[in-house]
Amino acid sequence: MKKERNKNPVQPVSGTKVPRFAGPSTFARLPELRDVESCDVAIVGIPFDAGTSYRPGARFGPMSIRQASRHLRTNYHPSYDVEPFKVQQVADAGDITCNPFNINEAIKQIEEGATELLDKVGGIISLGGDHTIALPLLRAINKMNNGPVALVHFDAHLDTWDTYFGAPYTHGTPFRRAREENLFLDDASMHVGIRGPLYSRDDIKNDEEFGFKIIHCDEFQTQGTDKIAERIRKRVGNNPLYLSIDIDVLDPAFAPGTGTPEIAGMTTREMVNVIRGLSGLNLISADVVEVSPAYDHAEVTSLAAATIVYELTNLFAKVKR
Ligand code: MN
Ligand code: MN
Repeated sequence: MKKERNKNPVQPVSGTKVPRFAGPSTFARLPELRDVESCDVAIVGIPFDAGTSYRPGARFGPMSIRQASRHLRTNYHPSYDVEPFKVQQVADAGDITCNPFNINEAIKQIEEGATELLDKVGGIISLGGDHTIALPLLRAINKMNNGPVALVHFDAHLDTWDTYFGAPYTHGTPFRRAREENLFLDDASMHVGIRGPLYSRDDIKNDEEFGFKIIHCDEFQTQGTDKIAERIRKRVGNNPLYLSIDIDVLDPAFAPGTGTPEIAGMTTREMVNVIRGLSGLNLISADVVEVSPAYDHAEVTSLAAATIVYELTNLFAKVKR
């Protein structure tokens, strides 16, 4: 990241002074971007779901993740031994407006919005929206980074398919387009949590040629989260890291509110422990996508996503600068 961290960050509204069900509706009741002098990590919503192939509704993801994030206790995280909102300024940058009827225009708007934001802040955590948004986000990140990044992609699905019904820009194709545009390092990137049947025998073969290694979801059964995190760390090394987390990497028991659920997925405990195992890597930005609240029950999925986003702010706090 570019600048020095803000030494005197504006804090979120305290849960000991204002009950957590009241107060601002920003992520974790953080200040808005316009209310801070400088910002290290911005949380930004991208309410776009026109690239969805099955259940729609991820356009409502950002607001439901923000709503669930009210419940977070954000002062001190013992797993990282850090006060993530005291050692850096985290702020809510609102939503990037994008056209719900025109995918090409929306992709352009997301790329421009993220580029503009990355000019002002150290890094961003984007709240999806469907997985289409990862393509324009990676374009913006590549501009900031002056080159490709290590991409670690948590998902039940590869998302490297070529087209759906002839359409090149969908939530199942962002990383094929990203490969064509050379947006990620082919010797430092991987998928984690892949499972389930495929469209073709060639899907895995093609994917490997694009430069991905795979940690299959079943490997969580035989290897602990420490070992899995170690494999990711080895693959990423010191490269600038972009994390793209599709909430459907979790089992539908933990994340029913999503567009294309797949059984036999990760638990939330496995998820947070793998993220904690990545502490110290050179994280530069991230997204959490595919929360579709209409299919959710009791905020289960939104709470998982909000907690993952909070874990990511702790990872940012642990990046050496
Ligand atoms: Mn998926
Ligand atoms: Mn996906």
